[in-house]
Order: sequence, then C-alpha cells, then structure tokens
Amino acid sequence: MRPKKRLSAKEYINGILTGNRVILSRAITVIESNLDSDKKLAREIIHALLPKTGNSIRIGITGVPGVGKSTFIEVFGKHLISKGHKVAILSIDPSSQRSKGSILGDKTRMETLANSEEAYIRPSASGDTLGGVANKTGESMLLCEASGYDVILIETVGVGQSETAVHGLTDFFLLLMLSGAGDELQGIKKGIMEMADMIVINKADGDNIRKSEQAKIQYQNALHIFPESESGWTPVVSTASSTENKGISFIWEKISAYKKLTLKNGYFKKNRNQQKIQWMYNNINEELKRLFYNSEPLKKHLLILEKEIVEGKESPVKGAEIILEEFKRTMFGSKEYK
Ligand code: GDP
Repeated sequence: MRPKKRLSAKEYINGILTGNRVILSRAITVIESNLDSDKKLAREIIHALLPKTGNSIRIGITGVPGVGKSTFIEVFGKHLISKGHKVAILSIDPSSQRSKGSILGDKTRMETLANSEEAYIRPSASGDTLGGVANKTGESMLLCEASGYDVILIETVGVGQSETAVHGLTDFFLLLMLSGAGDELQGIKKGIMEMADMIVINKADGDNIRKSEQAKIQYQNALHIFPESESGWTPVVSTASSTENKGISFIWEKISAYKKLTLKNGYFKKNRNQQKIQWMYNNINEELKRLFYNSEPLKKHLLILEKEIVEGKESPVKGAEIILEEFKRTMFGSKEYK
C-alpha cells in the first residue's frame, strides 16, 4: 500500500543506511512507482546510495512452480543467517505483469524467514514489461545492499524470459530441478541449463533419493556438452532436500567457492561491469518504448494504421515505417535525422 506521506530523499537515505526495514520498503515503493515525481526521487536516492552498493553476492534462483523454491529459500536463508549474513529476497515474476495476481506473491510463503530480523522479503514488482520489472528489481537490489544485506536472492519461476532477466542481475545462477521428470516436462530450456552455475536436484529424500542420484549423473553428463564458461567455473550438480535440511550447506560452500574463484580471476568484476552497461541499455529501451507508446497522437495514428492494415490498404512493414517516421519527426524535429 502507498504510504500517505512521502519522506524527503534524505530521510529515505538515512533510513536505508541505518537498516530500517520499514523505510527500505517505502523506498522500494517509490522505485516501483510510475509517477514522474517518484521517478525523480528514486533517482536521487539511488544516486546517493550508489557508493554503498555492490558489497554482496547476488544469487539467481529458478525452477518450475512446485520444484520447491520457497521451501528451499526458507531453509537456505536461515542457514545463511546462522552464518551471520543478512539476506534479501526479491522476485521477478512474469505473471505479475498481468494483473491476475502472481505465482510468487503468496503471503504465506517463507513465513519463518519473513519474521527474522536479518531477512528482508519483497514480492515482485509489477509492470507492463518484463524489462521494466527487472529494472525495478535491480534498483531494489541496490537499496538492499546499501541497507546491509550481503546476500541477495533473486527468485523467478521457470516459465520463459524471466530467467534471462535474473541472470542479467546476478553473479551466480542456481537452477532447481526434480528427479524423474525429463527437461521437457520441467519446462526448462537448454539455454537456461546453460546459464546455470549449479543445478540442484531438489526433494532428494525418502523414495526419491535413488532417482535423485541418477538424475544428478544425467545432468552432469548433460552439462559436459556445453562450452566452457567465461567465468572459469565448472557448473556443479548436487542433490538436496529442504524438508530434511540436506545438501543445503554444500550449496553455500559452492557459491562461496565460485565467488572466491571469480574474484581472483577477474570475472566477478567484469561480469558486473557488463551487467551495468546492459542495465543502462535496458533502461534506454524501456524509456523509448514508454515515450513511443504513451504518445497520444501516435496512439491515434496507430489505430488508423491497424485498420488500414486489416483492410489491406497498408502493409504491416509500411505501417511500421510510417509510424516510426512520425515518431522520429516528433523526437528530432523536422531536420534531417538518421
Ligand atoms: P515453489 O512453487 O517452487 O516455490 O515450491 P514450494 O516450495 O511451494 O514447494 C512445493 C511443494 O513441494 C510443497 O508441498 C513442499 O512442501 C514440497 N517440498 C518442497 N521442498 C521439498 C523437499 O525438499 N522434499 C520434499 N519431499 N518435498 C518438498
């Protein structure tokens, strides 16, 4: 819910720096807002906090609904807290783009973690485009870092492009899988497996233990066909059970080893630098789309073109050309433009 009174930029900044979770939440609400005045305020807050960001490990977690992500995050998060870390959990949920409600937005998820002082859980931002949602999640992540969270978990459901968005925001990509189901059944594309730094066969308990060990070998073999990653890291496959708390500390050991290796070989920094540049382009793309599709005269003209295309008076390609020419004229005036 939107707070009644907005704070000053300074109040947000100080609140975040002193680890005030209520103010952190309110600042993230400002970031998620589409009001121009809020956008300006958000930029001011982020700019001031930028030197305090980056001091974390950013972990992307994905897997199909039901694979056990929230149960895993709950147990994994508690493990991290027991080791002295502060954990922020953010999510990118493609379903929240449609106002139908969200797969990840269930309030009862991660209940014990949510009650911990050392954890901060923020459900997914909503937005018109996945790019917009991802940008907002990225900015929220920076605020969490400035507020002292040194492990950031960004979760998404394995249903499409959102994994790529999460991959673009994180240092380490963890894929949760189940045994006994083919990749196709789990909706996980080859490209997503290729992004994984670690694959965890989850629910490796009870009758599932043997099948999980078999699946582990299968995935290990499957990973061999991918080219070596630029990070110098060889992806790991392991098994875990969140309900029996097995294999959880091993995952953290591997993530720590990854960080150590990539800090040493320079990839950690290089990857973050590339992500920052990509992030700028994502913002440019989003803003261009916003300018284009929010323009009233263009909206009207587009409706006319739609009709003409349906009636066969104009081709789709020509229609696009006409409207983009008009956009360029409004953007750059009548002078020559390229
Ligand atoms: P999500 O949709 O990926 O977030 O999955 P959930 O964490 O909500 O888990 C889906 C179901 O799997 C729930 O009924 C959990 O109790 C169950 N589950 C989660 N982790 C495990 C596990 O390690 N072992 C077993 N046996 N069940 C699990």
